Amino acid sequence: MRYFKRGILSVHKNIIARLFLFLLIIGYLVPEKLIIPVECASRKDWNKDSFWHYPWGKSVTHKGVDIFAKNKTKVLAPSSGILIAKGYGAIAGNYIYMLGPHWHIYYFCHLDSISSNPFLVKQGQVIGFVGNSGNAAFKQPHLHFSIATIIPYIWKLDLFDKQGWLKMFYLDPNNYLL
Ligand SMILES: [Zn+2]
Repeated sequence: MRYFKRGILSVHKNIIARLFLFLLIIGYLVPEKLIIPVECASRKDWNKDSFWHYPWGKSVTHKGVDIFAKNKTKVLAPSSGILIAKGYGAIAGNYIYMLGPHWHIYYFCHLDSISSNPFLVKQGQVIGFVGNSGNAAFKQPHLHFSIATIIPYIWKLDLFDKQGWLKMFYLDPNNYLL
């Protein structure tokens, strides 16, 4: 009986491992062609040098870009994916985390408001509105947008820059919002 149980368990482990590998590969097969996540915005609406700018308050370095727009401009899902979390934080203000292709996490913050939407979102779907909530209060409304990868990109490790090891996880949006 013990052997039988152990056998079943190892079969389960095998299935889970295969399923995990399958999902991992699927995540990379889905093409990631992003749109700029603010309605009518172009690459001129953010400072490309602001990525990894130092010093940047409590964050030390700036791990994303700030896309400037009028208050309450629509924030769009840059790809299709899954909205995994939303909430409010003292620094972030209204924020959203979204899972997109390639196991990338998109992070949006300082939103004026978050539109109630389903779990799954389509590319271009309105997920919120630009604002200056959190520590962006009294600043010009903008969307802080970051792209992180769950699977670390070890080759991005940068030992010569401030918090350079975190570059394995935070990707430069300039290279994705084309
Ligand atoms: Zn920012």
